Amino acid sequence: MTVAILALQGSFAEHAAMLDKLCVEHFEIRQKKDLDRHFDRLILPGGESTVMGKLLLDSGMMEPIRQKILDGMPVFGTCAGLILLAEQVEDGECHLGTMQIRAKRNAYGRQLGSFYTEEEFQGIGTVPMTFIRAPYIDEVWGDAKVLAEVDGKIVAARQGKQLVTAFHPELTDSLQIHQYFLDM
Ligand code: GLN
Repeated sequence: MTVAILALQGSFAEHAAMLDKLCVEHFEIRQKKDLDRHFDRLILPGGESTVMGKLLLDSGMMEPIRQKILDGMPVFGTCAGLILLAEQVEDGECHLGTMQIRAKRNAYGRQLGSFYTEEEFQGIGTVPMTFIRAPYIDEVWGDAKVLAEVDGKIVAARQGKQLVTAFHPELTDSLQIHQYFLDM
C-alpha cells in the first residue's frame, strides 16, 4: 500500500513519521504531476486551511483531488484537512467540500484552541487527542457518522472512506488512528 500526503504546508512530515513507524510506503504531493503517481490513500494534514485551499486552487490540484475522493479514494483529514473536506465551513473559503459535515473554524477561541485530552473513539477505545487552534464539527448529515466527541462537540467523523479528526493524532505517540485509516 502507498499513501500520498499533501505537502503544501503544515504537519505533513509528522504524518510521514507515523507511516514510517507503521512500515507503510508514502510520498509527498507538492504539485499537480505528483498526482500521476500511483497511491491507495491520501492524507490531508493540519496547518492553515485557507492557505492550503488557495494553494490547491492555484496549483490546479483542487479538482483532480476532489474527483479522486468522489471516486472512492480513502482520505484522512486532520484539523485543517477536516476543514478542507467539509461541505460547509463557517468562515471558510475554497475547499474540497466532499464530506457531509459542517466545520466551525478556530472554534474554541484563539487561546483555548490548543489543549490535550483523552477520549473515546468509536471502534478503537480511549485515544490521546492534541488540539491546536482546532475546529470542531457542529453538524453531520447524510452518510457522515460521528466517531468521537469532547465536551459535547464532535471532533471525529467518518463518511464511507473519508475520515476526519479535529485533533492531531500525528502529534501523539499513538498509531491507532492511522492504523484505523489504513484498515478502512
Ligand atoms: N485553525 C486552522 C485553520 O483554520 C487549523 C489549525 C490546524 O490545522 N492545527 O485552518
